[in-house]
Amino acid sequence: MFNPETNRALIAASELINTAAGLHSAKPSPETLSTVEGLEAYLSARPAQLQWPSTAVNRKQLEQVRALRNQLHTLWRAAPVIEPKELDIINDLLQGVGREVVADSSGSGFRERPIPVSPQISDVMTATVAAALAFLVTHEETGRLRICRGEDCEAAIVDLTRNRSKLFCDFGNCANRAHVRAYRARQAARKDHEEYAGPARHRWAKPSAAEKAEQINRPTSATAIAAKEFRDRMREELMQKRHPSPQESKNV
Ligand SMILES: [Zn+2]
Repeated sequence: MFNPETNRALIAASELINTAAGLHSAKPSPETLSTVEGLEAYLSARPAQLQWPSTAVNRKQLEQVRALRNQLHTLWRAAPVIEPKELDIINDLLQGVGREVVADSSGSGFRERPIPVSPQISDVMTATVAAALAFLVTHEETGRLRICRGEDCEAAIVDLTRNRSKLFCDFGNCANRAHVRAYRARQAARKDHEEYAGPARHRWAKPSAAEKAEQINRPTSATAIAAKEFRDRMREELMQKRHPSPQESKNV
């Protein structure tokens, strides 16, 4: 949706948030960033273009990445709202981050690249993610930072679709479960409506217009029956005079 660097940084940020313990698609997901090895595993699963090496990770780096994760989580939960509190978080992350212009790897044109405070991995991650967040805020696109809409799901997602249609994570079947629930709700609403408007199965049910008409037409005494028969016969005769059938007109 945005430039490849921003897309990659935002996806990596949402995946960093999802390393925290929480519910993912109705299943408890464990904390995976409690050890240096956990951070190494997270880093080695990122795309190479991010240039987030998994070597040279230590306990201090781990603590700083966990702090970064907390700040990102706060931003994701607040999005799309960016108030002074959220701006402070982004500006804290941007503290000391420089910018340089480099030739684009595609071979055409140039692009901006953040310069981290130090080559340490937590600073490199912070610079990459902070630059992407600054881009989102200045382009009024923070609505793309979302928490999955699935029931019992807290997964952070980033919507990079053109029509802003991504509402669910890819951890399990959140989208499917939501569709099934919506379908059942519609069925239940329809059933309630039918019971209310249909034949008087319940004392409280209102008779339909057809039922009312039928009740009025139904004669209740012998005289009324005779009167109705007379009325019906007269109506029939009248109709025949107006539109005689071919057989009868020949006989006349
Ligand atoms: Zn989900």
